[in-house]
Amino acid sequence: MVDRCDVLAVGAHPDDVDLGCGATVARLANRGLRVGILDLTAGELGTRGDTAGRRREAESAREALQAAWRSCLGLPDGGVRPDADDQVAAVVGALRTGVPRAVLLPHSGDPHPDHGAAAALLLRAVFLSGLARWRSDLGPASRPRLLLAYPGPRQLFEPTIVVDTTDAYEGKRAALAAHVSQFVSAAGPPTHLASGHFLAAIEGRDRACGNLIGTEFGEGFAAVGPISADEVAWLLGGSR
Ligand SMILES: [Zn+2]
Repeated sequence: MVDRCDVLAVGAHPDDVDLGCGATVARLANRGLRVGILDLTAGELGTRGDTAGRRREAESAREALQAAWRSCLGLPDGGVRPDADDQVAAVVGALRTGVPRAVLLPHSGDPHPDHGAAAALLLRAVFLSGLARWRSDLGPASRPRLLLAYPGPRQLFEPTIVVDTTDAYEGKRAALAAHVSQFVSAAGPPTHLASGHFLAAIEGRDRACGNLIGTEFGEGFAAVGPISADEVAWLLGGSR
C-alpha cells in the first residue's frame, strides 16, 4: 500500500529499482529519509519465478535497502502504456497519496519497452498530478520538485549526477541477492540474469560510475529537465 514518503523510487518490474538505484535508496534511508518503492507491475512475464514468490523477494529486498514501504500497482507486465488513462490515474493516485518531494524513475532511453514506457508514464503522471482539475477524486494536486532518472540494467549513459554509494553498497548487494528466483537460484531455465555475469556487470557499472567521481561505488542519474541545486542538496544531506 502506498504511504507518505520523502522520496519515491519507481520501477516497471520488482527488481528494477534495486538494480538501477538501490544503493542510493539505501543511502537516503540511512540518512533518515522515508523512501517508498513503487513497482508498476508484478513482473509476471519473467522467465523465472511467480508473482507471489517475486512479491516476497521484493519485500526482502526492501528490508535490505531499509525503504519504508514497497507497493505494486499491478499494471500489466509487457503492457505498460503511457497513453492509457487508467494507468496514468493509478500513478497519479500514488503520487498524490505518497506526496514525494523527489522521484527516482527509469530513463526514457532504456531499450526495454516496459522501462521506456514506464518513464513516459511517470512523466505524464507527474505533470497531471500537479493539475488540481485532473481527477480531483484522486486527492489534492501535488507534484514532486525533483526528478532523477536512473539507467536500466543494459543501458549506459553519461550521468548528470553521480551519487557516492560506497557506504550503502552492501545494502544493494543484499537486496539483489534477495531476488533469488531472478539472480541466484540454480532452479529453473538458465538465463543471462542468473548466470552471475549479469550481477557482475551491474557491480562493474556501479564501480565505473564511482570512478567518475573518485569513489569506490556510485550510481548515476540523468536530470529530467533543469534541476534545482537546492533540491539536490536536500536529497543528499542537510535538513529535511
Ligand atoms: Zn525491468
